Amino acid sequence: MSKDSILVINCGSSSLKFAVINPGTEEEKINGIAERLGSSEAVLRWKINGEKGSQTLGLAAHEAALEGLMGLLREEGLIEGISAIGHRVVHGGENFSESCLVTDEVLEAIEDCIKLAPLHNPANLTGIRAAQKIFPGLPNAVVFDTAFHQSMPAEAYLYPIPYSLYKEQGVRRYGFHGTSYRYVGQAAADMLGLDINNSNILVAHLGNGASACAIKNGKSIDTTMGLTPLEGLVMGTRSGDVDPNLFSFLNKTLGYSLDETTDMLNKKSGLLGLSEMDSDCRVIEDAAVEGNEHAQLTLDVFCHVLAEKLAGFAAAMGKIDALVFTGGIGENSSIIRKNVIERLSIFGFELNEKLNDETFRGKSGVITQEGSTVGMVVATNEELMISRDTQALTA
Ligand code: ADP
Repeated sequence: MSKDSILVINCGSSSLKFAVINPGTEEEKINGIAERLGSSEAVLRWKINGEKGSQTLGLAAHEAALEGLMGLLREEGLIEGISAIGHRVVHGGENFSESCLVTDEVLEAIEDCIKLAPLHNPANLTGIRAAQKIFPGLPNAVVFDTAFHQSMPAEAYLYPIPYSLYKEQGVRRYGFHGTSYRYVGQAAADMLGLDINNSNILVAHLGNGASACAIKNGKSIDTTMGLTPLEGLVMGTRSGDVDPNLFSFLNKTLGYSLDETTDMLNKKSGLLGLSEMDSDCRVIEDAAVEGNEHAQLTLDVFCHVLAEKLAGFAAAMGKIDALVFTGGIGENSSIIRKNVIERLSIFGFELNEKLNDETFRGKSGVITQEGSTVGMVVATNEELMISRDTQALTA
């Protein structure tokens, strides 16, 4: 059997998402998730050839989940075809501007970034170490969410605070969703027949987490997320930008501690906090369509913030070859896309309502009129990108 596939792993604190992908043919042979890791109700779920399967793991953490996964891959006859493992890592700080093979030094550098991503990087490291143990013969590669944005110029990544905080503590804008931007930017250029090295592409990655990026000549020159994924756009439960004095204001008026305000901004804000309904954009859209004015206002705040950021990025790029929507909301919500594109009409965008309404569920394509500045949808595929990088590094 030819070793033509890559096992892609995305480890969270209590979950492990996986996929086996042939980066050459782009065929996804299996995908799934091990959930509720660390509890006694851990479960492994997967989808293969359109069919779903599941298996309880009992009391299992990441290592046991990978053992279960190995058994599953063996049963399905996929294990022999795997040549390497590619891991998603959230924060690479300034240590990594591209994907690389795992070595002891690389693991140390990822550990070094734990202070920047205390929830994510430890889980990512657990996944890498478990994979090294369970699949001892296979090389491991790491693909960072932050790496793509290392090309940003200092004027875009520096915060106007004492410079020593950058030099000594690494306080700066890093940006996230980089793997998605790299995939979507290239795919958009390919679809439009543009040379990525001579192009100006705006991307709005709108999922539960949301950010936007200005990609000039294939490189990120600005993005909305910052030191952490809280900055920037309105998200499912995250506020995005607010006045930083909110911390002291809420402390003085309501006695909120640092942790309480941090928790509020990360978990109780955004679409959920403002709408007082749900973090899921669909629920708010349905309410707005039925005439709920507060739901409509929530969507308008979401789109206002996004359109302002995109307009700023357009000025920084000097030209727009395409505005691309991606992520769960970007790929599916014709309502949000219409709202945003109408706000950006000053840049020559004219929506094609029919194309906009017809583009959802993984479909990619242009959604603007002929002659308009191009607005389009590209379904992102971070796992495919991770498999491609891993193959390139291990070939
Ligand atoms: P994550 O950031 O967790 O990867 P996704 O990119 O999967 O999130 O996006 C999830 C979000 O996409 C959901 O919370 C939901 O708000 C939104 N979404 C999915 N389908 C639709 C739809 N048809 N209309 C509007 N929003 C949608």
